[in-house]
Amino acid sequence: MRSLFSRVLLSNWLFLIILLTTGLILYFVETQVATEFKFVLFVLYIIFSMLIAFHTSFRIATSVTEHLIVIEKKTMEINAGDFGTLLAASDIQELSDLASSINSMSRRLQMQFTDLNVEKEKFNSLLQNLREGVFAISLDKKILFQNQSIPETLMPANSQSRSIDDVIINKKLLGFLNDHIESSMDGKIGIDDSKHYYRVWFYSLKSNNQILMYIGVVSDKTDERETQMLREQFVQNASHELKTPITSIKGYAETLESKLRLSPDSVEKKFIQAILRNTDRMIRIVEDMLTISKLESQNSFFQPEKVNLYELVQNLKFTVDGFIKIKNQTFTADVPANIYLYADMILLEHLFLNLIQNASTYSSENQSIHLFAQCKDNTVIIQVVDQGIGISESHLDRIFERFYRVDTDRSRKGGGTGLGLSIVKHIVKLHSGWINVSSSQGEGTTFTINLPIDRKKAVS
Ligand code: ADP
Repeated sequence: MRSLFSRVLLSNWLFLIILLTTGLILYFVETQVATEFKFVLFVLYIIFSMLIAFHTSFRIATSVTEHLIVIEKKTMEINAGDFGTLLAASDIQELSDLASSINSMSRRLQMQFTDLNVEKEKFNSLLQNLREGVFAISLDKKILFQNQSIPETLMPANSQSRSIDDVIINKKLLGFLNDHIESSMDGKIGIDDSKHYYRVWFYSLKSNNQILMYIGVVSDKTDERETQMLREQFVQNASHELKTPITSIKGYAETLESKLRLSPDSVEKKFIQAILRNTDRMIRIVEDMLTISKLESQNSFFQPEKVNLYELVQNLKFTVDGFIKIKNQTFTADVPANIYLYADMILLEHLFLNLIQNASTYSSENQSIHLFAQCKDNTVIIQVVDQGIGISESHLDRIFERFYRVDTDRSRKGGGTGLGLSIVKHIVKLHSGWINVSSSQGEGTTFTINLPIDRKKAVS
């Protein structure tokens, strides 16, 4: 086997030797040839030289080209994923080296492809066998992938490559997907069909801040929802059942108090007043438990409408005055007249009253309470600020939990149930907002609520 370089060199030498030998022969022959044939001899010599040159170049070129064509064909086959046969060795060193590199590259690629396919199969079977339904949507809203756990009532099997508008059967889910693809927002939704309740999570898959595709995960929450509904039903029934006897106990205690005309210092009078205080507290707890239970059953209770925040706060002032005057406190509200929200008015009133009532309960006499509101980036920021006792840092994380109180005695004396902030948090969540609190002991507390103005975000 020779290298291309030595092959060309050898051919050139051979060509030169032939030319020189023929030239020498002609030189000796030339003296014996008649003058008129000398020119013919010269022409024949040129033609002979050209033929030899052509033959030599042609042989080299064809042998190289033939091999290059075979190599090109093989690379095209590799490109198409066909690793089949290996390239035969050439008698030209460089081409033979090239062929063996391509062969080893082909073998390595084949191994990598096999590994990749095995991994892909594993991943695919994992996705296919997930209990959750998983589907992927392309940027042009076509189904890229779906596993076998997607319920047929939401999307038929084999919907790949078809538009979501043609395959998503449930109208609510389709509207949700279209909205979220347009706004590139992640989100979740509950879908009811006749027998099942599904929760669908929607995410956008990004790389370098560019959305590559959208992913949907469907989870069957029928059992969970049934248990939750039973629990809610139980709390609602229990609360209703409790309310009637407590109200009648209160009624009897009031009747006793008025009928017996006891002296204010008598023990009996104090007992009756304790009964009345405690029945009032029980009524408030039962009412708060009912409110939480209704808030948890979500949509049926949540009735958003266009609300003017300024008017809502003005209407509250009358109720607020009722309790802040007792402690000689002041309440001021700084709310621009043009803030409109898509919110449930009754729930929003409940939220503000709870926060203002707390601000009053946990502030001393003569202190002031402020409510501020402002719009920022399509959200309304509302703050309820007091100068009261404050909350130490260790309690801040827990005050939104049910029945959590920093100072149980103080809360009870102020008529608290320990459920107020839990209700507030629920209401904020129903409006797709968030709430946080900052406080400094002895200096006061600020509750900040952030509510979206946008109608779609408010109800998502
Ligand atoms: P409660 O009915 O006891 O007021 P909440 O859920 O409304 O229950 O509040 C939980 C606890 O958080 C209260 O018991 C109180 O300790 C604390 N808290 C709430 N608001 C304030 C406030 N404005 N200032 C100080 N402490 C507060």
